[in-house]
Amino acid sequence: MRLAECDGKALLRRHGLAVPRGMLLGGGENPPSGAAYWPGFFLKAQVLEGGRGKNGLVRRFDKAADLRDARRLILATVDDADTPLLLEEAVSIAREIYVAVRIDGVKQKVELLIAPQGGENVEQSAKLMRIPVEDATTPDAIFAAIAKNFPRELAARLARYAARLPGIARQEDLELLEINPLALTEDGSFIACDAKIIRDDSAGFRHDADEFPISRMLAERAMTALERSARDLGFQLVETTGDVALVTSGAGLAMMMMDLLADHGLRAASFMDNMHGAPDETMTERLKIARALAARPNIKAIVFQTVIASRSLADRIDALIAWITAEPLPKPLFVGFAAGHAATRTMSTDQAVEKLRVLGVAAFTDPVVLVKAVAQAVR
Ligand code: GDP
Ligand code: MN
Repeated sequence: MRLAECDGKALLRRHGLAVPRGMLLGGGENPPSGAAYWPGFFLKAQVLEGGRGKNGLVRRFDKAADLRDARRLILATVDDADTPLLLEEAVSIAREIYVAVRIDGVKQKVELLIAPQGGENVEQSAKLMRIPVEDATTPDAIFAAIAKNFPRELAARLARYAARLPGIARQEDLELLEINPLALTEDGSFIACDAKIIRDDSAGFRHDADEFPISRMLAERAMTALERSARDLGFQLVETTGDVALVTSGAGLAMMMMDLLADHGLRAASFMDNMHGAPDETMTERLKIARALAARPNIKAIVFQTVIASRSLADRIDALIAWITAEPLPKPLFVGFAAGHAATRTMSTDQAVEKLRVLGVAAFTDPVVLVKAVAQAVR
């Protein structure tokens, strides 16, 4: 679950990290009275995408009276007029620093990322330092890793600040805790001016289900109509721009097929995965969504690829044929399957291929051959 900036900052504040003074603005609201003394203002669209600064969704202004204009400019840029807006005091920044804790997906370990220059495009920064987080990661260890890129005194204080982050990430079950920029103010304190935080969904049960309502609302609004119906049918769908309606079972198979399609100049228009706590069989529901996707003019083919370990291949083929013959398919269909021993007791894979081919459906037992056939047909 990705947290909106305002929710991310609430989490940081709860752990004692300083964030700018601010408030969420509803419709026609004005700044709080105390804001008259703020040195300047930032109005920031609360959306889940990054790069807001570059896209005009973060606006700075000097007088409270300019709030209306800032609001108008931001709302003209986002497609949703109800986008929540965060009004903040403009912190006077002496230096922008980048600091993050994340899970290194390859090593499956926590790592700390620090760059001496925060702001936009930090990913390309040559000075991004990656520090593995071990149980014994102390401020001293972090200091040693970052000292060459900061003045000594700043490195020491930053090391103490950064050393607190892995513990917060662990306690809150975060996959990512990124502060960019972390502002070093003129008077030498650190203020988190932005927060990008992602909580691991599989740890959701450990946390209050009603926490972070704004983030939840934004995630819900960001879903397409088909993604919502897939969720209601019991599986997860992510729509992507592509030309092949792809139906798969687990995420691993989906990623393999997406790569194979990409190798042949094709792009999957859908990614499907199982949902935690969902019924364990959703093939019919997936096919239903695939039909809706395939009706779109940009989709050129439907690919159904499955791996069957213990359930009956014969039953699957019957269900598939029922779907195919129910009404004409909007685009050519390519079926691929691999079946284990237990699955093929009453029907072999060769028999299954034959049964489908009789109906004029292109059927395969090798996904590479399947994708080559799709590429050829589409061209
Ligand atoms: P992002 O583009 O979505 O990451 O949005 P940010 O919240 O990081 O805002 C974009 C940029 O605005 C930051 O990189 C900072 O340079 C600047 N910014 C944000 N908040 C403040 C602030 O309180 N004071 C100052 N001076 N700059 C800020
Ligand atoms: Mn940022």
